[in-house]
Amino acid sequence: MISEKITTMFWCDKLIENLEGPQTVNDSKTPSGRAHVGALRGPLIHDAIFRSLKAKNVPVRYLFGVDDYDPVDEIPYGEAEHFQKYLGAPLCNVPPPPGSQATDMADHYISEFFGVFSELGIKPDYYRMRDIYRGGKFNEAIDAILKKADVVRRIYKEVSGSDRPSDWHPFQVVCENCGRIGTTVVTAYDGKEVTYECKPDLVKWAVGCGHRGKMSPFDGKGKLPWKLEW
Ligand SMILES: [Zn+2]
Repeated sequence: MISEKITTMFWCDKLIENLEGPQTVNDSKTPSGRAHVGALRGPLIHDAIFRSLKAKNVPVRYLFGVDDYDPVDEIPYGEAEHFQKYLGAPLCNVPPPPGSQATDMADHYISEFFGVFSELGIKPDYYRMRDIYRGGKFNEAIDAILKKADVVRRIYKEVSGSDRPSDWHPFQVVCENCGRIGTTVVTAYDGKEVTYECKPDLVKWAVGCGHRGKMSPFDGKGKLPWKLEW
């Protein structure tokens, strides 16, 4: 009789078997409204990988970010009266819905989501994009990326086929006049300040005020596109 030896392996042990050296698991969420249960898929998968690495004594950090410099691009269900006028503003600059104990909209929605993490025993090191930007931690990267805007435009075209205007810069400032970030375009950078316009017709979900200006892009004055943040 021929005996067959069946070897099974847990999927994340297989995933990590060839990794060498210290590892970082990083995930993030945009706190634009109440998270549905499906949003736990990422955190749970990443927690399983984190636990498997720890079990193998691999030095590992599990980070979880809050993308709270993203603009409000839709209104949470049933909250139009409160949020309508903030469409386009960074999530962390918008007041929480009436009755909330949170400091802002981002804090309001992410607190509920992170509360579920605690119940499930998921314990990452949390970080918030507002702290990264306002603390100047991205200043060096912002300067380098704005100086090489032509390279970013070329890579975007090669990788995703997206064709940007020749003066497009991969950065959005918080408009000094209306406070929106989702409606601004940067068209020039002189090494210290960016030239920008807050456009009424840039996106369908928010209306910019038409303001034009020049300002520093550093210390929380604006943000990079998500792909460049990563
Ligand atoms: Zn504006």
